[in-house]
Amino acid sequence: MIYFDNAATTPVSEEVLSSFDKVVTKYFANPASNHKLGQISADLEKKAREQIAKLFLVEDNEVIFTSGATESNNLAIKGAAFRYKNRGNHIITTNVEHPSVLNAFALLEEQFGFKVTYLPVSSEGTVNVKQVEDALQDDTFLVSIMSVNNEIGSINDVEAIAKMLKKYPKILFHVDATQSIGKIDISLKNIDLLSMSAHKINGFKGSGILIKKKNIDLVPLLSGGGQEQNIRSGTNNFPYEVCISKALRIALQNREKHYIYVKELNDYLREKLSSIEGVSINSPLNGSPYILNFSINKKASVITEGLSNEDIYVSTKSACSSKHSPYSYVIKALGKSEQEATNSIRISFSYQNTKQEIDIFCQKLQHLLNTIK
Ligand code: PMP
Repeated sequence: MIYFDNAATTPVSEEVLSSFDKVVTKYFANPASNHKLGQISADLEKKAREQIAKLFLVEDNEVIFTSGATESNNLAIKGAAFRYKNRGNHIITTNVEHPSVLNAFALLEEQFGFKVTYLPVSSEGTVNVKQVEDALQDDTFLVSIMSVNNEIGSINDVEAIAKMLKKYPKILFHVDATQSIGKIDISLKNIDLLSMSAHKINGFKGSGILIKKKNIDLVPLLSGGGQEQNIRSGTNNFPYEVCISKALRIALQNREKHYIYVKELNDYLREKLSSIEGVSINSPLNGSPYILNFSINKKASVITEGLSNEDIYVSTKSACSSKHSPYSYVIKALGKSEQEATNSIRISFSYQNTKQEIDIFCQKLQHLLNTIK
């Protein structure tokens, strides 16, 4: 098997799995229970939270456990919009965000009357500081911009945007960092809210974090027993919390080493693709090496099916949006044709991939391009 779909999800690592096994079989009590057994669960959760806070250089109470980046994004965006609507009515994002951001903004616009600016990205898939600053209005109070794009790997300079936004103290800045955590270095210094997910870094699906700076309050999406400082009620899934802290620690410890290795893979694939006729690369050169997106002059769905039949797994678009539209809105936003946006293929690497796998992939791709009409 060749698995090149790591931006969609990654396998759970053995280290994470062994932590899970240990915690879930030995400890099951509710961390909110007052008895001794509950206290053990609460202690495990506390330790996980402390470790995560240390990794991100934030305080323990700035770590909110969620069910994944979709929830973190929704909580950050809707929670901030509802809590701070007295500050204004205008909110800003970009036109290539993940659907969990775009659809949250659409709901705020359509159902609640907020005014939304969707910043158009450049042909390289990014927005710049000036563009964001120029879009600010007197009543802007929330900006949400992704760090790394999940379809093409373009990287926004969110640190520079965050620094600029500090001049406007009533504006909150949210970053969807799902594709950058453990891969691209990112300082949270001037970022108010940041989303991430465990299953992109060899943790479990259904597990995520929202970093929420302590001076910020959010209207909760889930009301209930008041867990997570009353911002995210529901019995804490502390085995997952232990696991996400483990997955994060491993990913961050190896970040630089894995980056250098994956960049080599990316350069190698780019080079090989450049000699295949009918292939045009969509990912910018200065993007995340973990993602390489290209368009072909044949039907991408037929090619990916052919690859899948050979046990080679890639995506046509991001897994989250592939069911709804015939073409990728991200590739379209780069100024590419509908044809190119329909026939794009996303390769997403992990540190476990090899150059030999790239060789086999390119061989099969070439063969399919030659044989499919
Ligand atoms: N944002 C981005 C950029 C993503 O790539 C994803 C996962 N495809 C999400 C948010 C949603 O994450 P989750 O699957 O944890 O809900």
